[in-house]
Amino acid sequence: MKILVINCGSSSLKFQLIDSDSEAVICKGLCERIGIDGSQIVYTPEGKDKITKVSPMPDHNRAIELVIEALTNSENGVVKLSEIGAVGHRIVHGGEKFTKSVVINEEVMKAIEDVSDLAPLHNPANLIGIRACQKAMPGVPMVAVFDTAFHQTMPEEAYLYGLPYSYYEKYGIRRYGFHGTSHSYVSKRAAKILGKDASDLNIIVCHLGNGASVSAVKGGKCIDTSMGLTPLEGLIMGTRTGDIDPSVVEFIMKKENSSVADVTNLLNKKSGVFGLSNGLSSDFRDLEDGYVKGDAGAKRAVDAFAYRVLKYIGSYSAALGSVDAICFTAGVGENSSFVRKLICDRLSFIGGKLDEEANDVHGKERIISASDSKVTLMVVPTNEELAIARDTAALV
Ligand code: ADP
Repeated sequence: MKILVINCGSSSLKFQLIDSDSEAVICKGLCERIGIDGSQIVYTPEGKDKITKVSPMPDHNRAIELVIEALTNSENGVVKLSEIGAVGHRIVHGGEKFTKSVVINEEVMKAIEDVSDLAPLHNPANLIGIRACQKAMPGVPMVAVFDTAFHQTMPEEAYLYGLPYSYYEKYGIRRYGFHGTSHSYVSKRAAKILGKDASDLNIIVCHLGNGASVSAVKGGKCIDTSMGLTPLEGLIMGTRTGDIDPSVVEFIMKKENSSVADVTNLLNKKSGVFGLSNGLSSDFRDLEDGYVKGDAGAKRAVDAFAYRVLKYIGSYSAALGSVDAICFTAGVGENSSFVRKLICDRLSFIGGKLDEEANDVHGKERIISASDSKVTLMVVPTNEELAIARDTAALV
């Protein structure tokens, strides 16, 4: 079956058409600047060159129309509309309602809307994407795949904040975790690579991209993860602070005479390795470059990033009791042998030992631990779209 995977943001829409039998990507692309001037669709049909079409997209309905046109046009289309068997939608927040992917109906739409205040930038955009697809492809089954679902197995001791319990009861304030589709895919894939059953393994997954999170997966189930109520908690990220003392917010507001919105923007968009490097870059390629050339800001930022990952690995080792494998994934985790080395060189407390030659790998599955390492260190590229397509195919 041919499955259209949609990842809809407030002004962008990423898509992939995947054959669920062969798992081949038939076409992938992106609509940019929806609702603003200069919108365009950029896509690459399998085996062909990238195509860019500048076209006004006042809303997501028009973006979806253009996606369908790109996939089905007679010149370089790849499919007939009637061949698209289902659509899988990435939904950021499923609250506590969704512990796994579900076929979308009105009740599901309402439930996604109900938790929108937990992800005010993302869930409304996801719903708009679903409605636009329903309009363009009436009768085609659609599936919602939630970023939060994999983490719903976390026990209460891991997901509660030390706030009055009534805030959890009244408002659902708790840790939810994100990147769940990636943590789930990578931990399952790692078990396959190791030739073991996921239920027999304790795995730590380090999803290190622009947004970054770590999870502890015991016997195939997530028992803790570093992101919280929102994707701001946990690791130091590209531009996000990760964990900080909440009092910092009030302190900055007073010192700089700024508003909650200003500080929220600061914590999300101007902090992380970008802020620590004094605005040098949020891109790890630039930071690594700066690091080796002796730039103090780049070194400071990357060292703090790696140290925070190490601390999470330490605490999740304690939470799991023992660790069989540590997986590195996403842009930095898959590609940066430099950052992996900074982290892995400090894993002697669990007997982890890096094979430096094996670590020279970019974007490919590989075991990177030495033969006498007590923990298997591995690079496992993530594939959230494929995971969404698999769930979608299984449900429809
Ligand atoms: P997101 O999906 O959260 O935007 P990605 O998983 O795409 O993030 O990761 C983006 C990050 O990966 C960027 O910081 C980028 O610099 C980093 N990255 C990509 N390729 C490399 C590389 N070869 N070496 C180091 N970092 C890389």
